[in-house]
Amino acid sequence: MTLTAPDCMQPSSPPDISPRNDLPSADMPALDPPPVATDLFLGIDVGGTNVKVGLVDGSGVLHAKASTATPPLKTPDRVFRYAIDFAIRTMRHWDRPIDDLMAVGLAVPGVLDTREFQLREVVNLPGWLGQPLRDILVDTCQRPAMVVNDANAAAYAEHSLRKLGDQSLALVTLGTGIGAGVVTAGRPHGGDHGCAGEVGHIAIEFGDMALPCTCGSRGHLESYAGAAGVIARLRASMPEDYQTNSDQIDRDQISRDLYAGQPWTPRSIAMAAADGDALCLQIIDQTGDYVGRAIGMLGQTLDPAVVLLGGAMTFGGDQTSTGRGFLERIRRSVTDTTLVQVGGNIQVEFASLGNDAGTLGAAMVAKNLT
Ligand SMILES: [Zn+2]
Repeated sequence: MTLTAPDCMQPSSPPDISPRNDLPSADMPALDPPPVATDLFLGIDVGGTNVKVGLVDGSGVLHAKASTATPPLKTPDRVFRYAIDFAIRTMRHWDRPIDDLMAVGLAVPGVLDTREFQLREVVNLPGWLGQPLRDILVDTCQRPAMVVNDANAAAYAEHSLRKLGDQSLALVTLGTGIGAGVVTAGRPHGGDHGCAGEVGHIAIEFGDMALPCTCGSRGHLESYAGAAGVIARLRASMPEDYQTNSDQIDRDQISRDLYAGQPWTPRSIAMAAADGDALCLQIIDQTGDYVGRAIGMLGQTLDPAVVLLGGAMTFGGDQTSTGRGFLERIRRSVTDTTLVQVGGNIQVEFASLGNDAGTLGAAMVAKNLT
């Protein structure tokens, strides 16, 4: 194997990457094996709940994947050990030499210092804060390694899928929180403080009447267009005797939830809107306006070729007329709030990759090392 990565990414101790028996065993591959003599890259996507791993070829095709619960593994070295064991077992199963594994990429949540490759802030990964993640990864896997924020990894996977070359892309994730992964000039962009793409905390309303945000400030996108913000706006607009006209949802349940002080969900709002509920449609349209404003600011700053929308709160996405209407509303809001050269040229679409995006993106970032 020829390694061309900088010295600092090279292993510092002799190879010892035989599988161990004290870690959960990764499943055998269920996807198509890679063609013979194809370079392979290991992607690791670590969250507070699950660790996802995958073997990806140089063109971005995922050939095997597995996952396991994060809490029993606890420490970075045990997580990385699980990942390299998965790669070894899978490549043996394919009768491929381990030397075909060229590099390893790691995607992590939280605020990542992209110079030291240490997490400066993270929720749900106790013990990971301040650890030299890339060094541990190199020592454990005996391969060149790179660490990237998970949102940026997902954005990079979408960028690779679209073969955007040196163009820029942002992947905005809508859900309980709102964030974005950013790829600028063909490379994931973490920012000097690890906070690039924090679009949920872009201010879209100002003054004392602006809604408070979970971060302590006011008027941020997340307080209007995060899941809790959407539900809060619906409840604030709803007359006390409001009854939805939706046939698809359980009116009694919604009435009970409403009067018990329990929130609706973005999903039930989308279902009611699909049945023509005017109030829910209005709330979704407003959400599109807010998201579009923030994307407009992002567009005016970065001027990216593509902005994608992902996450759990796309109101059905491409699969439903409600989701497609939401996307149209966002596009209109972007063009209404930007220069024509910006808003008229940005492609705003739904994202294509689902849960595998972080693993794929981590592997594709690793590919850049070779
Ligand atoms: Zn905020």
